[in-house]
Formats: sequence, C-alpha cells, structure tokens
Amino acid sequence: MNYEASIEFAKQMDNEDPIRSYRDRFHFPQFNGDDILYFGGNSLGLMPKTSKAAVNEELDVWKKLGVTGQHDRWEAYHEHLTESTARLVGAKPSEVVVMNALTVNLHVLLVSFYQPTPKRNKIVIEKGAFPSDQYAVESQIRFHGFDPKDALIELTPREGEKCLRTDDILITLKENGDSIATILIGGVNYYTGQAFEMEKITKVGHEIGAYVGFDLAHGAGNLLLNLHDWDVDFAAWCTYKYICAGPGSPGGVFIHERHGSWDGPRFAGWWGHDKETRFNMGPNFIPITGAEGWQISNAPVLSMACLRSSMSIFDEAGMPAIRKKSEMLTGYLEFLIKTIHDKIEVITPLDPHERGNQLSLVMKENGKDIFNKLGEKGVVCDWREPDVIRIAPSPLYNSYTDIYCFFEILKSLAG
Ligand SMILES: *Cc1c(COP(=O)(O)O)cnc(C)c1O
Repeated sequence: MNYEASIEFAKQMDNEDPIRSYRDRFHFPQFNGDDILYFGGNSLGLMPKTSKAAVNEELDVWKKLGVTGQHDRWEAYHEHLTESTARLVGAKPSEVVVMNALTVNLHVLLVSFYQPTPKRNKIVIEKGAFPSDQYAVESQIRFHGFDPKDALIELTPREGEKCLRTDDILITLKENGDSIATILIGGVNYYTGQAFEMEKITKVGHEIGAYVGFDLAHGAGNLLLNLHDWDVDFAAWCTYKYICAGPGSPGGVFIHERHGSWDGPRFAGWWGHDKETRFNMGPNFIPITGAEGWQISNAPVLSMACLRSSMSIFDEAGMPAIRKKSEMLTGYLEFLIKTIHDKIEVITPLDPHERGNQLSLVMKENGKDIFNKLGEKGVVCDWREPDVIRIAPSPLYNSYTDIYCFFEILKSLAG
C-alpha cells in the first residue's frame, strides 16, 4: 500500500472504504460540535445507536409481563448470541457461551483447566500480562497450595526487546515440558499490542501435555480467530472493548468441543444444568454438553441486549472485511507516525500478522504532557506508565480522516 501524508489522500481512502457506512451506526461523543477523535475502543467501544432501544425492549417486557418474561423470553436469552459469537471467534456453536465477566471466567475456566499435581503444576503467562490475569493466575496457584515463585513461568522478551519471539516462547515451553500444567496467554498483549501465534503455541503446548488457553480481551472482534481449528482448549474475552457492548457487559467463553462432555472439576450452577430438567429443581447436577455447561447463573439480560445489538453489526460487516480495513487503517497510522519517528517509537510489531488494530507509542520526550494536550484537543486515547500512548483505531467507526487529523495534532505537539 502506498500511503500519502495528506488530508486529500485520507479522504480518498474513506471514499473507497467498503465498510465506511458503519461509522453512522455509532454514537460519537462530541467535542466542539464535532465527533471526537476516538481511539479508545481497546478500553470501551463506542455505543451502537441501536443499543438503547434493545435495552428498552427488555425493560418493556419486564414492565408488562414480570416473571412471565423470564419463562417465555429470558431463560434462553443467551442463546441468541451463540451463532454470532461462534462466528466471531471461529468456533462451533456448542463451543461458546456468553456469561459472567472476563476475570470471573478466567477463574471458572482455570478451575477446570488448571489441575496441578506435585510434578506438573506450572502456569505459563506472558510477563507484563494484564494485571487482572496475573492476579487470577497467582491466586489460582496459591489456592492449590503452590507458590507462584515456583509455579509461575513468565515469558520475558529478550534484553532490549519489547515483544516476545515465538521461537523463544516455544523453547521455554519445551524446556519446562512436563512441569507445565496450563498455558494462559493474552492473544494480543494489552500493552505492546503484540498478537501471538496462537496456533503454534497451542500445538507445542499440547505436545508437552499442557492445556492451552488465551485471554482474548484484545483479540475477539479484532483479529481473525479460528479457535476450533487451532485446537485451543479454552479462551475468554470481554465484550465492552472491541465488541462495543457497553460498560460491564458479559464475557465470552470458548471451550473446545473435545471437552464438551467434561467430567473433571468444575464449579457448577443451575444455569449449566440440563435445560430439559433444570426446573425440576433436582439435587443432582447434570451438565449441558458443551460450553453452556460451565454457566453458573442466569444471564444478565439487559447487558446482553446491548451485546446483541453490537454483535449484529459484526455479523453484518463480517470479520474478514473488518480485519482487512483494520490492517490498512493501522498501517496508515504507522506510516504517518514514522514521519515523526525520532520522537516516537512504535513498540507494537510492524508485521500486520503480529498485531491487531492497536499501536503502542513510546514517547521519548514529554510523553505525559503530550498525552494531556491530546486530550485537551479532543483526542481519546490512553496512557500507560511509564511512557506509552495506546491508539486503537476501530475499523467499524474510525476513518482514515480521523487518523490523519490525529497525526496533525500529534505532530504539532511532538514533531
Ligand atoms: C480488559 C482486560 C481485563 C478486564 O477484566 P474484567 O474482568 O472484564 O474487568 C482482563 N484481562 C485482560 C487481558 C484485559 O484486557
């Protein structure tokens, strides 16, 4: 792609963008009477214009029907999300479910997929994982009576490097072989924006006899995923970042179909119980086959209504088109940043196959100050200590013109 650093070029790219109209499906916060430059979709995606009506519809049912709504409508509510969720992550419908929240789901999944023994008790994560994942994993290790100092392996980049090399990851896995119980890596690291080679990691993880899972908070709705074919054991993600389902929206879970008839450890609840006999209220837990068997509580319908409205946008646009634009949009951002490169270092991998839409910019001078001024000029992005600004252009609602306008502002502050 031959990019050009001009507003005319950006506008032309927008004119040729086959999914440009999706921008109109979202509410933009306003700044000085115009759409704000919003690059915070890796923290909280913008609100689809259909979300409010979707929530109101459920509120109206509640108002008019009370508990009758529960029986007639909400008992199976999460099932409306099954097909689209499966499409989003490359899974079979029986392999996915929407429930709880992300960190809760990590715990629920680790109850099943972390079964340490004296010999095999280690968990592998990436160093600098999202803190919640770190806390979850360490507390799981302690819960089983082990010490994270011995049982936690943190994958660390080479001296002087910010990202991990796949070969180094695979070597660590092989070296620690039969002491590793579980691998749990962020499919895309939240800080560097590096996308890991999940298929290769899964293959080697299985060769050494470990369970392999991914936290896809920054992967789902961002990358093209093929969790079933990659043979991943389990995955979890949130839906309020890339998937635009609103604050605190419920999490997504993938469990490979070979674990569908699981009889190992799991924390059970009535929503995971066989649907035909759930309301017989019997004393014995009979799990639903597949990912739904891991459900514990009944579904948060109002939040799920928002999720349904955003998932229908993903269904309509389709991940292949979304990802295609994402690569070009982020490529354009990278191209522009490089023209002011001596002040800003992109630590996200430059190969589009090794990243999603986010670029992490190390600010070599006055980073925090520049970040604050960006905010004052109507740019939404975020700051991560000690010196990183994260920018995540959404292919659904950001334009090439947004990228160019951001670049002009950044250049005036840092160039
Ligand atoms: C955003 C994020 C979380 C947040 O967890 P919640 O349980 O949804 O609050 C956890 N892990 C990763 C990798 C994230 O990016």
